[in-house]
Amino acid sequence: MQSADILVIGGGIAGLSAAAALSDHARVIVLEAEEQIGFHSSGRSATMVHYALGDRLVRALTLASRPFFENPPEGFTDVPLGHRMPVLVHAREEERGALDALESEISQFAALERLDAAGVHELCPLLREDAGHGIADRNGIRLDPHALLQGNLRQLKSRDGALSTGQRVAAIERQAGTWRLTTGKGDVYSAPIMVNAAGSWADHVARLAGVRPLGLEPKRRTIITFDAPPGTKLDALPFAKTIGDELYFAPESGRLFASPMDEVPSEPCDAQAEEYEVALAAFRMEERTTVKVERIHSRWAGLRTFTPDKHPAAGFAPDAEGFFWLAGQGGFGLQTSPAMAGIAASLISGGAWPLPDISPEALSPGRFVRQPA
Ligand SMILES: Cc1cc2nc3c(=O)[nH]c(=O)nc-3n(C[C@H](O)[C@H](O)[C@H](O)COP(=O)(O)OP(=O)(O)OC[C@H]3O[C@@H](n4cnc5c(N)ncnc54)[C@H](O)[C@@H]3O)c2cc1C
Repeated sequence: MQSADILVIGGGIAGLSAAAALSDHARVIVLEAEEQIGFHSSGRSATMVHYALGDRLVRALTLASRPFFENPPEGFTDVPLGHRMPVLVHAREEERGALDALESEISQFAALERLDAAGVHELCPLLREDAGHGIADRNGIRLDPHALLQGNLRQLKSRDGALSTGQRVAAIERQAGTWRLTTGKGDVYSAPIMVNAAGSWADHVARLAGVRPLGLEPKRRTIITFDAPPGTKLDALPFAKTIGDELYFAPESGRLFASPMDEVPSEPCDAQAEEYEVALAAFRMEERTTVKVERIHSRWAGLRTFTPDKHPAAGFAPDAEGFFWLAGQGGFGLQTSPAMAGIAASLISGGAWPLPDISPEALSPGRFVRQPA
């Protein structure tokens, strides 16, 4: 049996970033079911830091996380965690009202430029003429998810923490103030505190521990990659998103990637791209841009897992001592990970609350799991 102060279930960005932050004060072991870290959602994302998704709370978590991406701690990484990529949200004439509303919401968090048709096409020449209005945030960041995951792992290990891969937690018991986690291989790990950062499986992990689930909903999202038209200046292209949740695309490793922004309910699983959403991505790309999707180079899908109010959950379960929830990161889990890790460390280690603009109650799992009166 291996003992620690804190066991973290899940070697995605949520689990690894929290583990790295917690390892400053405690001996932490991360248990990951797969043989490699970031195999599920964290390795399948669009890797953007932007404000065009979520609401005020998500934007505040994103804003609080940006300094970490721009200036990671000493020794965290040898390579940049990301690079600048402008974010363009574009609209047709009839969608102008929605663009105005988004502009007023985002402008509290980022410096935006309002673009007319000429400005939209200067920034993104691939768009069709009907994209007549836009807002641009020139300070978007395209993250390197590998560097982010590895940096957190490196920090964890440098502070005497450990990662065990290929260890799917299969049984969870609480005995005399200690959680005992048994993996599918029969190995046993114990600690007084466990962090449930199991992504799409977080409700399943709660059930294993006899803890009431939050009602998490995993939703599948699909991405395809394909060639850009010859002569396209890929490096200059933005992350371009329709004002409605219909399509986004951006340069990706010498090609383009695009998503139809699907949200198909799914069981927790190794999500696969389905033909319908792959075809929808290509169709919408051709509908909104002048690009012809001749051949799809690659495709993948991942799960974005939401709580019932679409805000993440971070906090101790009201119905189980020492059981900490870190779940429901939806479509913003990478870009909010430094702030969420700081929040988890503060709530578990009893340190100062790091975000004055956000209350712990707003993230508390207790908002879904009420104690009987
Ligand atoms: C197509 C797509 C685009 C996205 N775009 C963005 C974006 O631009 N910006 C952004 O910030 N976010 C984006 N996201 C969202 C982001 O990827 C997620 O919010 C984030 O990766 C969630 O991290 P996680 O650690 O909670 O989950 P995961 O990465 O899924 O990690 C959970 C881990 O728990 C492990 N696990 C589960 N059960 C057990 C068990 N019993 N025992 C041991 N281990 C277990 C799993 O194997 C898994 O590795 C996108 C997601 C998708 C799918």
